[in-house]
This record gives sequence, structure tokens and C-alpha cells, in this order.
Amino acid sequence: MSDCLFCAIAAGEIPADVVYETETTMAFRDVNPQAPTHILVIPRTHQENVAEVVQAGNASAGELMATVTAVAKAAGLDTHGYRIVSNTGASAGQSVFHCHIHVLGGRTMQWPPG
Ligand code: AMP
Repeated sequence: MSDCLFCAIAAGEIPADVVYETETTMAFRDVNPQAPTHILVIPRTHQENVAEVVQAGNASAGELMATVTAVAKAAGLDTHGYRIVSNTGASAGQSVFHCHIHVLGGRTMQWPPG
């Protein structure tokens, strides 16, 4: 999709600190980290949110979550725990309308979040 920041990152048009890639997904560090480790996992194709990824088919949703768990393991977060978040809609805090899963770890986190 034109004008989509994460499509531009997926296409290599805008640089990002990429930590993991598959044929259908990509993971890169958030520019404004909210935890010592803060990685965003995206589908390479434009889907606005998780619901659209699920609508695209179980393979897409499965690949996205497989990348999330692989990224958490590669970053060493799986032993002490980590949080995954995906904001859907502006009122939930979504600011980039290309589906992304935040993978956060490396510090103790409170629940519920603010
Ligand atoms: P959300 O507010 O849930 O839509 O999350 C969007 C995230 O994208 C925020 O945490 C931003 O810090 C992050 N972000 C924005 N621009 C970039 C970029 N160029 N590279 C990496 N992360 C970005």
C-alpha cells in the first residue's frame, strides 16, 4: 500500500534495524522502545490489523505468531517472560495502520497497563 511506513520498511525503502525475517514476515526494533527489548513483528503484505491477517487465512496468522515466538526466543526473552501487544484502532493506541505485534521484554511489567 502506498504511504504505509511498514510497507516501505518491508520493501527495504526505509531502513530499519531488522532482527528476523521469513518469506512472509519481518521483525525489527521499535524506534521508540518501551522496554529494553522492543521488537515489532509485521506481515510483509499490507493488512491493517490482526483481524485482517486472520481473514487472510490461517496460514498468515500462524506464520505471524510463529515469527513472534521465534523472535522472543532469539532475543532470549522466553526464559524470563515477555509481553505481546497489538493495538487495533486509534482509540486503542494504534498509530501505524499496518498490522504489527509488539514484543516487549527485559524488564518487569505491570498489569493492567495504563
Ligand atoms: P502502534 O502505536 O501500536 O501503532 O505502534 C507503532 C509503533 O511503531 C510505535 O511503537 C513506534 O515507536 C513504532 N515506529 C514508528 N516508526 C518506526 C520506524 N520507522 N521504525 C521502527 N519503529 C517505528
